Amino acid sequence: MKKRQGEIECMSVTIRGALRRNGRLPRYLPSGLLVCGQCGGTSRRVNTREYGCASHVDGGHAACTNGIRVRGELAESKLLEELQREILSPEGIALLESKVGENMRGRRQLCCMVRGSLVEAVGPRSVNLQ
Ligand SMILES: [Zn+2]
Repeated sequence: MKKRQGEIECMSVTIRGALRRNGRLPRYLPSGLLVCGQCGGTSRRVNTREYGCASHVDGGHAACTNGIRVRGELAESKLLEELQREILSPEGIALLESKVGENMRGRRQLCCMVRGSLVEAVGPRSVNLQ
């Protein structure tokens, strides 16, 4: 359960990171999300139609022996399937609920702090409860 939550969080961080870098979604959906099964590095578009290990493409056989190329449509549909399954899994939903809960608790604490500070700043004389 913990490991799965970590994986889902990691995926979410990757997507947010990709968005933050250039303010928009990557040109090709799987860029930065697909990982090479051989070296653990990223896989990316290697030409207009296929994905492959970036290390292999850039550094050759010495960098990574994985020279497998995957058709773009296949990589994209598999990734979407995986994302959908992870996000809609019971663990994904539980994680989302806990994150929303944390956020709400945080906001409530902040409101209490601000309210407390205001009462402190204004002083008890100005607070007329009658
Ligand atoms: Zn590789």
